[in-house]
Amino acid sequence: MRYGSRNYQEQRHRIGKLHEKARNRRKDFLHKLSCNVSRSFDAVIVEDINLQHMSQSLKLGKGISDNGFGMFRTMLAYKLNEQGKVLVKVDRFFSSSKRCCCCHFENRELRLEDRYWRCSACGTVHFRDKNACYNLLQEGDILLNRWASGDSSLILAPSGVLSEKKLHHQAHSNVGRNGE
Ligand SMILES: [Zn+2]
Repeated sequence: MRYGSRNYQEQRHRIGKLHEKARNRRKDFLHKLSCNVSRSFDAVIVEDINLQHMSQSLKLGKGISDNGFGMFRTMLAYKLNEQGKVLVKVDRFFSSSKRCCCCHFENRELRLEDRYWRCSACGTVHFRDKNACYNLLQEGDILLNRWASGDSSLILAPSGVLSEKKLHHQAHSNVGRNGE
Protein backbone atom coordinates (compact mmCIF):
# COMPACT_ATOMS: atom_id res chain seq x y z
CA MET A 1 0.00 0.00 0.00
CA ARG A 2 1.24 3.43 -0.80
CA TYR A 3 1.58 5.73 2.16
CA GLY A 4 -1.39 8.08 2.32
CA SER A 5 -3.40 6.23 -0.33
CA ARG A 6 -7.05 5.31 0.09
CA ASN A 7 -6.15 1.67 0.75
CA TYR A 8 -3.60 2.77 3.31
CA GLN A 9 -6.21 4.84 5.15
CA GLU A 10 -8.69 1.99 5.15
CA GLN A 11 -6.13 -0.45 6.50
CA ARG A 12 -5.12 2.01 9.17
CA HIS A 13 -8.74 2.28 10.22
CA ARG A 14 -9.09 -1.52 10.38
CA ILE A 15 -6.00 -1.90 12.57
CA GLY A 16 -7.15 0.88 14.84
CA LYS A 17 -10.41 -0.95 15.37
CA LEU A 18 -8.58 -4.16 16.28
CA HIS A 19 -6.49 -2.31 18.86
CA GLU A 20 -9.61 -0.81 20.35
CA LYS A 21 -11.20 -4.23 20.59
CA ALA A 22 -8.16 -5.63 22.40
CA ARG A 23 -8.16 -2.67 24.82
CA ASN A 24 -11.84 -3.14 25.61
CA ARG A 25 -11.41 -6.84 26.10
CA ARG A 26 -8.57 -6.31 28.55
CA LYS A 27 -10.53 -3.68 30.41
CA ASP A 28 -13.55 -5.92 30.60
CA PHE A 29 -11.42 -8.74 31.98
CA LEU A 30 -9.90 -6.46 34.63
CA HIS A 31 -13.36 -5.24 35.65
CA LYS A 32 -14.60 -8.79 36.13
CA LEU A 33 -11.50 -9.87 38.01
CA SER A 34 -11.46 -6.86 40.35
CA CYS A 35 -15.19 -7.24 40.92
CA ASN A 36 -14.72 -10.85 41.90
CA VAL A 37 -11.80 -10.18 44.24
CA SER A 38 -13.50 -7.21 45.91
CA ARG A 39 -16.58 -9.31 46.66
CA SER A 40 -14.61 -12.27 47.97
CA PHE A 41 -12.43 -10.48 50.51
CA ASP A 42 -12.91 -7.88 53.25
CA ALA A 43 -9.51 -6.34 52.60
CA VAL A 44 -6.82 -6.82 50.00
CA ILE A 45 -3.15 -6.25 50.71
CA VAL A 46 -0.72 -5.26 47.99
CA GLU A 47 2.91 -4.29 47.88
CA ASP A 48 3.62 -0.74 46.84
CA ILE A 49 5.94 -1.70 44.01
CA ASN A 50 7.01 0.63 41.28
CA LEU A 51 5.07 -0.77 38.33
CA GLN A 52 7.07 1.14 35.79
CA HIS A 53 10.39 -0.18 37.05
CA MET A 54 8.97 -3.66 37.18
CA SER A 55 7.71 -3.76 33.63
CA GLN A 56 11.05 -2.39 32.49
CA SER A 57 13.09 -4.95 34.35
CA LEU A 58 10.82 -7.81 33.29
CA LYS A 59 11.04 -6.62 29.69
CA LEU A 60 7.32 -6.76 29.21
CA GLY A 61 7.60 -4.46 26.23
CA LYS A 62 4.27 -2.83 25.54
CA GLY A 63 3.07 -3.69 29.03
CA ILE A 64 4.48 -0.37 30.17
CA SER A 65 2.17 1.64 27.98
CA ASP A 66 -1.11 -0.10 28.71
CA ASN A 67 -0.33 -0.62 32.42
CA GLY A 68 -2.87 -3.34 33.11
CA PHE A 69 -1.57 -3.84 36.67
CA GLY A 70 -2.08 -0.20 37.54
CA MET A 71 -5.56 -0.24 36.06
CA PHE A 72 -6.43 -3.39 37.98
CA ARG A 73 -5.29 -1.87 41.24
CA THR A 74 -7.26 1.32 40.69
CA MET A 75 -10.41 -0.67 39.92
CA LEU A 76 -9.87 -2.92 42.90
CA ALA A 77 -9.44 0.05 45.26
CA TYR A 78 -12.65 1.80 44.29
CA LYS A 79 -14.67 -1.40 44.17
CA LEU A 80 -13.52 -2.34 47.69
CA ASN A 81 -14.18 1.22 48.79
CA GLU A 82 -17.76 1.10 47.52
CA GLN A 83 -18.37 -1.83 49.84
CA GLY A 84 -16.75 -0.15 52.83
CA LYS A 85 -13.59 -2.24 52.46
CA VAL A 86 -9.99 -1.22 51.89
CA LEU A 87 -7.01 -1.90 49.69
CA VAL A 88 -3.98 -1.91 51.99
CA LYS A 89 -0.74 -0.75 50.45
CA VAL A 90 2.39 -1.96 52.23
CA ASP A 91 5.38 0.35 52.04
CA ARG A 92 7.86 -0.57 49.30
CA PHE A 93 10.72 -0.61 51.80
CA PHE A 94 9.16 -3.44 53.74
CA SER A 95 11.36 -6.43 52.96
CA SER A 96 8.71 -8.94 51.94
CA SER A 97 11.01 -11.29 50.01
CA LYS A 98 14.03 -11.50 52.30
CA ARG A 99 12.15 -12.03 55.54
CA CYS A 100 11.26 -15.55 56.68
CA CYS A 101 7.51 -15.46 57.27
CA CYS A 102 7.83 -18.01 60.10
CA CYS A 103 10.57 -16.57 62.29
CA HIS A 104 11.20 -13.13 60.70
CA PHE A 105 14.89 -13.83 60.16
CA GLU A 106 16.17 -11.64 57.32
CA ASN A 107 18.02 -13.47 54.56
CA ARG A 108 20.35 -10.83 53.25
CA GLU A 109 21.94 -13.23 50.80
CA LEU A 110 18.74 -13.80 48.84
CA ARG A 111 19.18 -13.05 45.16
CA LEU A 112 16.51 -12.38 42.55
CA GLU A 113 17.13 -15.72 40.84
CA ASP A 114 16.57 -17.69 44.08
CA ARG A 115 13.07 -19.10 43.65
CA TYR A 116 13.42 -21.41 46.66
CA TRP A 117 15.46 -20.92 49.80
CA ARG A 118 15.90 -22.41 53.24
CA CYS A 119 15.79 -20.17 56.29
CA SER A 120 19.11 -20.61 58.09
CA ALA A 121 17.49 -19.68 61.41
CA CYS A 122 14.43 -21.96 61.54
CA GLY A 123 15.03 -24.32 58.61
CA THR A 124 11.78 -23.65 56.77
CA VAL A 125 11.99 -24.08 53.01
CA HIS A 126 10.30 -21.23 51.19
CA PHE A 127 8.98 -20.66 47.73
CA ARG A 128 10.04 -17.09 47.19
CA ASP A 129 6.72 -15.56 46.07
CA LYS A 130 4.59 -17.41 48.56
CA ASN A 131 6.85 -16.37 51.43
CA ALA A 132 6.58 -12.75 50.26
CA CYS A 133 2.78 -13.07 50.19
CA TYR A 134 2.65 -14.37 53.77
CA ASN A 135 4.86 -11.51 54.91
CA LEU A 136 2.62 -8.98 53.17
CA LEU A 137 -0.42 -10.58 54.73
CA GLN A 138 1.10 -10.29 58.21
CA GLU A 139 2.18 -6.71 57.63
CA GLY A 140 -1.19 -5.76 56.14
CA ASP A 141 -2.89 -7.25 59.16
CA ILE A 142 -0.74 -5.11 61.45
CA LEU A 143 -1.65 -2.01 59.45
CA LEU A 144 -5.36 -2.84 59.59
CA ASN A 145 -5.17 -3.29 63.35
CA ARG A 146 -3.31 -0.02 63.77
CA TRP A 147 -5.90 1.71 61.62
CA ALA A 148 -8.76 0.16 63.61
CA SER A 149 -7.23 1.47 66.82
CA GLY A 150 -7.06 4.99 65.42
CA ASP A 151 -3.39 5.29 64.51
CA SER A 152 -3.09 8.69 62.85
CA SER A 153 0.10 7.84 60.96
CA LEU A 154 -2.06 5.88 58.52
CA ILE A 155 -4.20 7.47 55.89
CA LEU A 156 -7.20 6.22 53.94
CA ALA A 157 -7.18 7.99 50.58
CA PRO A 158 -10.48 8.85 48.84
CA SER A 159 -9.43 6.27 46.24
CA GLY A 160 -9.88 3.55 48.88
CA VAL A 161 -6.18 2.90 49.53
CA LEU A 162 -4.96 2.58 53.12
CA SER A 163 -1.26 3.29 53.59
CA GLU A 164 1.37 4.90 55.81
CA LYS A 165 1.45 8.66 55.51
CA LYS A 166 4.34 9.45 53.21
CA LEU A 167 6.70 11.71 55.07
CA HIS A 168 10.04 10.04 54.59
CA HIS A 169 9.65 8.81 51.06
CA GLN A 170 11.23 11.71 49.24
CA ALA A 171 14.52 11.05 50.97
CA HIS A 172 14.40 7.36 50.10
CA SER A 173 13.13 7.56 46.57
CA ASN A 174 16.55 7.16 45.00
CA VAL A 175 17.40 4.04 46.90
CA GLY A 176 17.06 0.88 44.83
CA ARG A 177 15.42 -2.31 46.00
CA ASN A 178 17.81 -4.87 44.66
CA GLY A 179 16.39 -8.34 44.57
CA GLU A 180 12.94 -7.35 45.76
ZN1 LIG B 1 12.88 -18.75 59.63
